[in-house]
Amino acid sequence: MMCDACKVREAEVYQPHTGRKLCKQCFIEDIRQRVRKESEKIGLPKANKILLAVSGGKDSFVLADTLASFIDPSKLTAYNITEGIQGYNRKEQVQELKKFLSELGIELIEDSFRQSVGYTLDEMVQAAKVKGLNVSACTFCGGFRRKLINEAGRKVNADFVATGHNLDDEVQAIIINLIRGDLTRLIRFGDSPLKLSSRFVLRVKPLRKIYEWETTMYAYYKGYTFQEVECPYITTRPTLRAKVRELLYMLEDIKPGTLLNIIEEFDRIAENVRKSYISSMQEIKELPRCKICGEPTSYGRDICKNCELLIKAGLLYQNLPIS
Ligand code: SF4
Ligand code: ZN
Ligand code: ZN
Repeated sequence: MMCDACKVREAEVYQPHTGRKLCKQCFIEDIRQRVRKESEKIGLPKANKILLAVSGGKDSFVLADTLASFIDPSKLTAYNITEGIQGYNRKEQVQELKKFLSELGIELIEDSFRQSVGYTLDEMVQAAKVKGLNVSACTFCGGFRRKLINEAGRKVNADFVATGHNLDDEVQAIIINLIRGDLTRLIRFGDSPLKLSSRFVLRVKPLRKIYEWETTMYAYYKGYTFQEVECPYITTRPTLRAKVRELLYMLEDIKPGTLLNIIEEFDRIAENVRKSYISSMQEIKELPRCKICGEPTSYGRDICKNCELLIKAGLLYQNLPIS
């Protein structure tokens, strides 16, 4: 069967949301074009520096490979964090990551929780357990990762921090926030997030309209061998996300294109909500800074959630404000 795009080569992939059958080259080109379109909307091609937060998984590979197809690689810097999870973080994975990034001409900055927080994730989880805290590994992991990625973005003077979240991740997050009735978070999840602190580097998600099966296929076609071992803490994740994920797959199966429709409709609504939210605020008030680490924290808080977690886990005793 011929490819519906070039009509020359044999088709290999069926794209349910467009109803097209594509050859390998046209499939790769389709993904690159869609990532480019989303990136142009955000203004990425005009940026002087973009920090790519890469985990070594397939999505981070697709993020780097697609962006490097239309952005000068010297404007891209990758940043990877080793969390310190026994049996999950492997040296070979970082080597593989480094190899493909250098082939693309992208520099890689390597960091770890041990180096920048002082403890591995396993140590934080263990300390929390000893103190009887009911905090999941993902809470520590997500919070510190966000903080370090933002700091790294500032250090390299990045205009944007780009992450590899795909369409499935995004729509799951939208639905979860809708269920929780968390309007602010929901708005901040949009395609032009609100910047509530001058210390935040804007986070963008160029793959937010690419299905997860498409990023898997892209990585496979490009011969990228990615981390297949699952994080041992995944089972401690809240079950709501798993349920939402299941539900969305079911809907996508019945009506292909559902996820894309949800995100496009969400962006349209978020844009309007954002405008009325901003006009009702009179001025966008800068978020306060944590009195311990100096990073932005929520309105009304003196110390950030990350520092609070370390104190509660008995891993941080110093309580002096630093400027
Ligand atoms: Fe971190 Fe949780 Fe993801 Fe594991 S599953 S890498 S602990 S966020
Ligand atoms: Zn083709
Ligand atoms: Zn702090």
